[in-house]
Formats: sequence, C-alpha cells, structure tokens
Amino acid sequence: MDFYSPRRSLQQGHWFKLICGASFQHLPAIRTLALVYALAGADCIDVAADPAIVSTAREALAIANQLSDEAHDRGYNPSLPWLMVSLNDGEDPHFRKAEFDPAICPPNCSRPCEAVCPAEAINRTGVIDDRCYGCGRCVPICPIEQIATRSYVYAPEVISPMLLQAGIDAIEIHTQVGRTEDFRRLWNAIAPWVDRLKLVAISCPDGDDLIDYLWSLYELMQPLPCELIWQTDGRPMSGDIGDGATRACVKLGEKVLATEIPGYIQLAGGTNRHTVPKLEALGMLHNRRRTSVSRWVSGIAYGSYARSLLLPVLNQLEAMEMMPLNCRSTVTPRTIETVPDLLWQAVELAAPLVGQIKSPERFLQVI
Ligand code: SF4
Ligand code: SF4
Repeated sequence: MDFYSPRRSLQQGHWFKLICGASFQHLPAIRTLALVYALAGADCIDVAADPAIVSTAREALAIANQLSDEAHDRGYNPSLPWLMVSLNDGEDPHFRKAEFDPAICPPNCSRPCEAVCPAEAINRTGVIDDRCYGCGRCVPICPIEQIATRSYVYAPEVISPMLLQAGIDAIEIHTQVGRTEDFRRLWNAIAPWVDRLKLVAISCPDGDDLIDYLWSLYELMQPLPCELIWQTDGRPMSGDIGDGATRACVKLGEKVLATEIPGYIQLAGGTNRHTVPKLEALGMLHNRRRTSVSRWVSGIAYGSYARSLLLPVLNQLEAMEMMPLNCRSTVTPRTIETVPDLLWQAVELAAPLVGQIKSPERFLQVI
C-alpha cells in the first residue's frame, strides 16, 4: 500500500496529478473527477483556490476513502491523494474566463465556438462561467471576433489564510520568467503558512533565462520545510488536442532535468497518453529496469486529457440529474457514488492513464 503514498510516488518517480483546472468551477464535475481519479490511484488533486471548490474536493476524497476497500477488491490501487490549490502571481492563461454577448451573434453563425469548446461551456446564453477553464480555443475562431477573455489574479493576503486554514496539503504557484517581484509578494503572504503544507509546486512555462529564474525562486523560498516540485508547463491546457501536444512538455522537462536544481520535476501542459511512452523512450523515467538514470521526471500532471476521458460519464451523470425519480420531484441531484455501475465504469476509464506512470511494465504501452 505504501507504494502508492503520494510522497513515495514522488520519490520513486510515479507521481500522478489530476488537474481539475485553476479556473474550472463546475462543482459536480470537480466532485466526480476527484472521486474517480482518487479511486484510480491519483496522488494529488489540483483544484481552483476557492473555498467552495476545496470543500467539494475534500468531500469527494472522503468518499473515495470510504470506497477504498471496494476499489482494492476490484483490482485498483486507490491512494489518499494530497489536495492542492493553484494560485498565480500575475496574468496567466490558467486564470481567465472567456466571455461574449450572445445578442450580437449573427443568427446564421454556424457556432464554431460551441463546437471547439472542450468543456461544453458555450451555449445560446453565452459562456457558462463555471465551466470555462480559460483554454482560449474559442477566441480566434469567432468570425466576428467578439469573444474576449478576462483574467484575474488572486489577492494573496486575502486568499492564503482562508485556504491554508481549510486544511489543504499543497499549493501551486503559476509564474513566468521575469516576475521575481510579483512572486516575492505572493510568497511573503504565503510564507507564514508554509510549514502546514506537504508540498509547494512552481509552475512555469519556458522562456529566456528560465533556469536562472527558477534558481532565483528556489533561493527566495529558502528555507522550505516541505517537498518542492517544478512543474514544467509545456503547452498549457492542450493535452486533448492531439498526440503531438506532448512534445513541448517533454522538451521543457528535458531542459529542467539537465540542471542541478533541487526538487522534483513534473510535467504538465500537453500531457496525454503519449507522454509516458515518450519519456520512457528518452530514458527520462526511473524504473526498476533502468537503474543507471541518476535524475528523472518524478511525475506527470494531466488536465484536459484526463477530463476528456471522463466526459461521457460526466454527461451521463448530468442527464440523470435532470430525470425526476418520482412524480413529485422535478430535478434530483445525483452523485456518482449513488450510481455504482457508472462509478466503476468511470474508474475503469481513468485507471489505464494512471497505470501508465504507476506500473513499470506498462511504460511502453500506448493506451
Ligand atoms: S473554449 Fe476554452 S476559453 Fe472558450 S469557453 Fe470553452 S473552456 Fe472557455
Ligand atoms: S462564433 Fe462568435 S458569432 Fe458565432 S456564436 Fe460564437 S460568439 Fe457568436
């Protein structure tokens, strides 16, 4: 069982993180995703820094814990995942929402925005705010260029005590090269609470002087009383677009891996079913057969790809929510654990992705 503890997963190079989305606020979907991936063996569930979302995710993890014996009996290896929230130190594509005025749409528009949205967040009323996670794919596709995005930055002095008192295990800070002073401001607000955390992750895309920048952050955070992950953010929110999306995150992982910077390295941004086989082919993973590797990628975070795997289940559950159970009720909220067949079907969909990094014998297998 210890094999699947989150800290052990990091140390041994088989850490799996589910990214629900720094801007994604659709509570029923977050609840289902967290529960299903916890049962499938995820080590960490990463959610938006919002107390209602944290509370929903905690509830899902408590249910996963209650169902862990059954999951074992069914051949899965559930963990007790760490709960992470994401913050930003400045403008960042992960922290934005799309918006447009549906009244302006020409009646004959073929609605490409709706078709391209991976979150099914667009309908005749415009953008459903809770569901939009800011991927930006709808923006360039609108023929009348009316879709805009609005970004937001968390005020750390407000958010950090509230969230850290809520008992989260980990935080992730999204930053970009050159934002040392913004990062310092955010860090100073969080620092008094850091000794309550098990993990701090720093997510950064590539850029000139990336390595120097990461070193400056490392020094700024010392002494750090918990684990540290560098999340190499290849091509944000793109893992579900296609097989090639994984190239950028692997390349960035290679770049950071070549340094001596202390901390674990975990990929994100374009991760999908091709990421583990690609890393294995390049000798970037630690496994029992390849003992000569001295430094390796410790884990992978999956966002849009992991969510897309469960989209049919999420839709099915939502359709059930709309069905009256008896003649006196019009809408009956359904949670996935009340539909056991659907729950275990969902775990079966999620488990092969988790298994790619967890099971050395499956490293070369593309699911
Ligand atoms: S395409 Fe992306 S940015 Fe546009 S509404 Fe959908 S989730 Fe939001
Ligand atoms: S593509 Fe643009 S004009 Fe067409 S429905 Fe979407 S927002 Fe409206």
